Amino acid sequence: MNRKALITGITGQDGAYLAQFLLSKGYKVFGSFRRASTLNLERLDYLGIREEVELIPLDLLDLGNIIRVLEKVQPDEVYNLAAQSFVAVSFDQPVATGEVTGLGAARMLEAIRIVNPKIKFYQASSSEMFGKVQSVPQNEKTPFYPRSPYAAAKLYAHWMTVNYREAYGIFACSGILFNHESPLRGLEFVTRKITYTVARIKHGLANELRLGNLKARRDWGYAPEYVEAMWLMLQQPEPDDYVIATGETHSVQEFAQEAFACVGLDWRDYVVEDPAFYRPADVELLVGDANKAREKLGWRPRTTFKELVRLMVEADLKRVEDQCGR
Ligand code: NDP
Ligand code: GDP
Repeated sequence: MNRKALITGITGQDGAYLAQFLLSKGYKVFGSFRRASTLNLERLDYLGIREEVELIPLDLLDLGNIIRVLEKVQPDEVYNLAAQSFVAVSFDQPVATGEVTGLGAARMLEAIRIVNPKIKFYQASSSEMFGKVQSVPQNEKTPFYPRSPYAAAKLYAHWMTVNYREAYGIFACSGILFNHESPLRGLEFVTRKITYTVARIKHGLANELRLGNLKARRDWGYAPEYVEAMWLMLQQPEPDDYVIATGETHSVQEFAQEAFACVGLDWRDYVVEDPAFYRPADVELLVGDANKAREKLGWRPRTTFKELVRLMVEADLKRVEDQCGR
């Protein structure tokens, strides 16, 4: 019989790619979404898999709801990707972020413990937990120092995952993923904001790109490769935590420079540094050491920084052309 996976946050970037990947592995995929007046299935449509997944309304704020969904679906694996995932917003909505991003994971773990402790659990942890980094590069042993309500909420969820593994023997893994991007990345994140605006500038629909901290450095990888690592973690003999990263770091400025260069433009003619996009506290440098994942999971990144920027720019050029009916 097909294995069953439940993905929370299936409408997001990673949810869509993970659903596609699990379908290719023969899973029956259930995806949970939060009830809204309009359901956003844009990413599932983009990948052409909307009809292949079974969608289930599920609210991570409601433990009873989660329990009923687990009882109904009886999944073999749960991937907990739903979160208020945007760091900047978490400064304005710290409590709501804690409820979904932090306590949401605790509720899911608790529901697994109640319904069936044999369900395998993946928690979407984040390199943001390293925050004000205590060593370079960051690996599974690096101490955490969160710099935002988002990161603090993720850290709570991370330790709850570890705790439910140790206390109740649940097969619970925490993937500490560094930033990963794609044409399906939300427009508010800096990479998509850059590539989409570059495409609009190229087509004469915009004339500037306003950004915040240009010096911030991130370890940016390609999202479809990162969701494979999530699955690999749940296929190991023992549950564990893994850093997933490329090991390369680039600044926001370098990303913008590369993106403008893809369309033959000079970033300095368009980028305006705007303090409105500064954060109350920022993470200046992230660069991951994914050696453990390479050795134990056989996972390694395949797409280079330049390839990533180019594929995102090209996808946005196409989108803008389609929007303009060109
Ligand atoms: P997205 O922001 O694209 O997707 C987030 C998902 O969570 C969406 O499906 C969204 O639903 C859902 N969601 C948001 N708020 C709620 C809520 N209140 N209740 C229920 N669901 C909610 O994130 P990604 O796909 O990029 O990331 C997946 C996970 O991995 C997230 O937990 C993120 O924090 C984490 N992560 C991501 C990294 C990255 O670089 N992408 C790096 C490290 C960790 P809706 O469509 O309705 O908004
Ligand atoms: P994060 O690593 O999850 O916070 O991912 P983001 O893509 O939101 O931000 C990455 C870095 O880019 C952070 O250090 C931001 O301060 C910086 N940055 C600079 N300008 C912008 C901007 O206009 N939007 C966003 N989202 N980030 C910006």
